[in-house]
Amino acid sequence: MTRGDGKEGSRALLASVRERLPTVLLEAESLLWSAYLAPLLRAREVAHDMQDWTPVAHQRIEEFLGECAAGPRRLSCVPLIDKSDLRHRLASFLRPDASPYQRFWAKATSGTTGSPVQIPFAADFYFDHLLLTLPRIARRAGLSVPGHHASVAVALTDYPACADELWFDCAGGRLVLQLVVSPDDAGMLEHLGETLRGLGPYAVSVKPSLLEWMCDEAAAIGQLDGTCAALACSGSDLDPALRSRSEAIFRVPIIEAYGLTEFGIVASECSARAGLHVDGDVLVEIVDGTGEPVPDGVVGDVVLSSVRNAVLPLVRYRTGDTSAIDGRRCECGRLTPRLVRIGGRSMPNFRLASGRTMSPVRFQDIFREFPVAEFQLTQTARDAFRLVIEPQPRRRVDATALAEWVTRKVGEPVQVGVQIAPLMGRTGKFERFRVET
Ligand SMILES: [Zn+2]
Repeated sequence: MTRGDGKEGSRALLASVRERLPTVLLEAESLLWSAYLAPLLRAREVAHDMQDWTPVAHQRIEEFLGECAAGPRRLSCVPLIDKSDLRHRLASFLRPDASPYQRFWAKATSGTTGSPVQIPFAADFYFDHLLLTLPRIARRAGLSVPGHHASVAVALTDYPACADELWFDCAGGRLVLQLVVSPDDAGMLEHLGETLRGLGPYAVSVKPSLLEWMCDEAAAIGQLDGTCAALACSGSDLDPALRSRSEAIFRVPIIEAYGLTEFGIVASECSARAGLHVDGDVLVEIVDGTGEPVPDGVVGDVVLSSVRNAVLPLVRYRTGDTSAIDGRRCECGRLTPRLVRIGGRSMPNFRLASGRTMSPVRFQDIFREFPVAEFQLTQTARDAFRLVIEPQPRRRVDATALAEWVTRKVGEPVQVGVQIAPLMGRTGKFERFRVET
């Protein structure tokens, strides 16, 4: 997470978090915001538990459509939108009455389905997303969440644009630490294990590619049973084999969750592990290629609607992911629909000739460093990659410079073949990172 403006000051302050742990270091500004929003966040946390049983998304969205001066009033008449619509005409989706301070917070999308987009967050949504997500996931999974005494959750990420940040939740008396890990940094492994053991978080969020790295390096990181209650995994498809392996190694439950930057986490597992319960303030539809709804149990495209982010309410947003709905009562007793067989967000790690495992997330930087509209990177051998590039309109890219850039990012000798070819506007699911070895 990054602030939309003036983030350098807080980043400098927080750069010392690693050296100061487990000494508690608070970011003063987040403390003030959290205190200001505490009553609202506390109310939300209570309301969310109720929403788990009484979905309110449809009603709120219809109210929102009724407030819009132009456009369809009924949800079923709203045309589908997708990430390319946000990329090309974000301003048309922003609430015109949103005050400027509400756009103060922002986070870039991960860029797994196109170049990253800066998503503006309303302040209450930002802090809700940041502070309440992990407690919600843990509670829904049946874990006990510490309530009114200091406790900590840790969010691990390897996105280069993120920084270490520590947030205090005045509503629940909890801390959330975002820790940026670099799988290439050997010293990071022991540091990570020490940090987790020092903090004793009740939950750690991680994405599958980092989880795989942690499994590979388990000897250096150390055991996690007795350290944290669970690992919450979201961000891309979780391979069942990786899940079993992780649970065997770390001896803590892995809770699967589903979300995207535009909405935050929208669904997670209960203790029955029979699909991911959708949050009560999010409406989910499953549609076919023509946009028509498919029956429960049939896999199709996931379309989400929610007004939970007041700055950027999104109605009938095609996520690019696939899933099916199970609308039956879950054995946990909840009635909310469950997402089952989620797919389409593959981000495989690359395994290199040296034996190293490398997350492909670092290659998303290509959008910042070259005039690239889209790319696809395929590992064809342990030491060979094929990079297909579609340049931005009327821009040229230097194939040699791109090949050198990829080699530098990999950090060991590899062959890189570069092709210039159209990638945008394809039909079917696009995988930016592929492994053919
Ligand atoms: Zn359930």
